[in-house]
Amino acid sequence: MRTLVVDHPLVTHKLTALRDVASDTATFRSLTDELVTLLAYEATREIRVQPVSVTTPVAVARGVKLARPVPLIVPVLRAGIGMLDGMTRLLPMADVGFVGLRRDEESLMAETYANRLPSDLTDRDTFVLDPMLATGGTLATVITMLVERGAASVTAICLLAAPEGVRHIEEIFAEDDTAGASRAPVRVVTAALDERLNDRGYIVPGLGDAGDRLFGKI
Ligand code: URA
Repeated sequence: MRTLVVDHPLVTHKLTALRDVASDTATFRSLTDELVTLLAYEATREIRVQPVSVTTPVAVARGVKLARPVPLIVPVLRAGIGMLDGMTRLLPMADVGFVGLRRDEESLMAETYANRLPSDLTDRDTFVLDPMLATGGTLATVITMLVERGAASVTAICLLAAPEGVRHIEEIFAEDDTAGASRAPVRVVTAALDERLNDRGYIVPGLGDAGDRLFGKI
């Protein structure tokens, strides 16, 4: 499992404005959208392509096109929906699946309440959209669902990550374990690795509740 913290002045500039408590919903939405497109550029660096030739007005040029089957984008409900447009801007041909998880208040385990995923993901690159990698419980569940369906790769795009969450994902999806030897590569791409989680599970300094800031408190 690899983690990439995208170190780019435009990413940091937009993330700083996103964190600002004074940014209203409209600003937060458009900054999220722009930031995801920038992260998606890095997140798709290893996307599968196949060679093709095109005829230019002058000669034949060699190039590539995205391999088939097309990639699958999976926003995690609800906050991941706010990242979808930014991602499909770069991958307009991708399919989109959906997963929703909630925490069972008794067992404290994440349980799935929505699942619209293809049953077979053989040879498909998959991209999970979840703005906040906090404890990592939700992300681990979604990655497992994709790996079990045979995904060729799983890349999670998170606006922010906490060290606790990254450690959790690293422990589960370590690449040198025997079970994982032939498993799909797992990557996390994020704009920043913050300090820690607080006792309410919020990332510090973070940006607050991403779902509420994107869609309002309900
Ligand atoms: N989810 C959020 O929306 N914010 C956090 O800080 C942690 C989890």
